Amino acid sequence: MAFQIIEGCVSCWACEPLCPSGAIVAATPHFQIDAKQCTECEGDFAEPQCASICPVEGVILDGLGVPVNPPGSLTGIPPERMAAAMAEIQAR
Ligand code: SF4
Ligand code: SF4
Repeated sequence: MAFQIIEGCVSCWACEPLCPSGAIVAATPHFQIDAKQCTECEGDFAEPQCASICPVEGVILDGLGVPVNPPGSLTGIPPERMAAAMAEIQAR
């Protein structure tokens, strides 16, 4: 099993130096995880390091394809409130 980075990753480099197995690859159009190298951090850390540092919701999937930081988990804004929240911020 391996984690996966999907569309939406902003290639910020935050995760790459933290990976204990060197599985994260700077690629185009966004970073990728080498499935053969990802250990899911087992044996090294209690938490997957890439998902712990990633600032973008929903772009890292676990071995089952489930987002580790689902929408709303980092911002605290429920997905159904996001459009209204963005409109409110832009109106300031
Ligand atoms: S889960 Fe751990 S081993 Fe896998 S890519 Fe993320 S940091 Fe690297
Ligand atoms: S921390 Fe997240 S946004 Fe940044 S490069 Fe890694 S996966 Fe992409």
